[in-house]
Amino acid sequence: TVRPAQRMTELPAQFFAALVRKANEQIALGHDVINLGQGNPDQPTPPRIVRALQEAAENPLYHKYPPFSGFAFLKEAIARRYKLDYGVTLDPETEVAILFGGKTGLVEISQCLLDPGDVCLVPDPGYPDYWSGVSLAGASMAFMPLREDNGFLPDYTRLTPSELTRAKLMFVNYPNNPTAAAAPLSFYEDTVRFAEKHGIVVASDFAYGAIGFDGRKPVSFLQAAGAKDVGVEYYTMSKTYNMAGWRVGFALGNREVIRLLNLMQDHYYCSLFGGIQAAAAAALTGPQDSVDTLRAMYERRRNALFGALTGIGWQAKPSEGSFFAWLPVPKGYTSAELADRLLLEAKVVVAPGIGFGDNGEGYVRLGLLAPEARLEEAVARIGKLGLF
Ligand code: PLP
Repeated sequence: TVRPAQRMTELPAQFFAALVRKANEQIALGHDVINLGQGNPDQPTPPRIVRALQEAAENPLYHKYPPFSGFAFLKEAIARRYKLDYGVTLDPETEVAILFGGKTGLVEISQCLLDPGDVCLVPDPGYPDYWSGVSLAGASMAFMPLREDNGFLPDYTRLTPSELTRAKLMFVNYPNNPTAAAAPLSFYEDTVRFAEKHGIVVASDFAYGAIGFDGRKPVSFLQAAGAKDVGVEYYTMSKTYNMAGWRVGFALGNREVIRLLNLMQDHYYCSLFGGIQAAAAAALTGPQDSVDTLRAMYERRRNALFGALTGIGWQAKPSEGSFFAWLPVPKGYTSAELADRLLLEAKVVVAPGIGFGDNGEGYVRLGLLAPEARLEEAVARIGKLGLF
């Protein structure tokens, strides 16, 4: 008999697995399902990046094991991108780790820094993968509520002395999944001061860094003075370049954290396929018009969705960034009940807020992951249920 380790019995099931299964049941029954549930970009990778992989695949250099912490040219490419986009200077050798998708590094940082008894500060609602690393490390979490009346920013003054003395790591994530809020530079400046004062490492998840609306260019945590002394930022190719399936991401900033992440990665992965590293470097280095087009596309979709929502009387705060909309649930429903009703009666998949933490209750998350006409169709179907 197989007796799993304690850490595996405590690891929760992946939240989206159940959502995908329910949606697939409806599709199998022949229904026209509009899937706005999982955060999976619906557009293909730009052709010039695909061509860079095709060329690189022919290069025997990439057929061997790659260098342990990845190719220098890719670390240089991301460092140049940060200089150009955010005015941030990074040393490619010591301040960049190449990750197998941002997700691996978000999970590994907890294992690098936390022992049982230590505390990690996590946003609630928040991206569920932050919890998995903390669970695997046998550490505990203190949740930082994100409330609409505070712009969905955490309030550090609400943490208790016991949480603050045990905390060694914290996650922040703007543009935010799931609330679609953006953060100003002053928030990151406060975060650096707070982290310095309490000896906490900051993990800033910048997965939606390319997607800000109404002329808001998302601010990087690394733009705050002293950020590299206290933490790292996670940057991923998944959303900015529609490369979610390619699994390339980075951690950037604090040298000691980068050293630990690289050490962990050396044991697990010996880095990514070199051809993918070459294509990712091409994406970061060449013309960036695809990124502008992508941002404009999500903004058009956001406008179409919120226009339609207003039309049926569903009042919500318009998304400031990311490719999500965070909508309050009408009275009389839990988020899971509403999500079930929308799936069964409108054939629209949304993510129930409770999946992102207790403070996510009272909301559902919709992805801007279909063309405008499809988003409008989804809202029209919901409108027919007469909930508003
Ligand atoms: N962080 C957030 C907030 C996300 O929403 C996602 C993907 O959905 C990730 C990180 C993971 O990105 P990657 O594809 O690089 O693993």
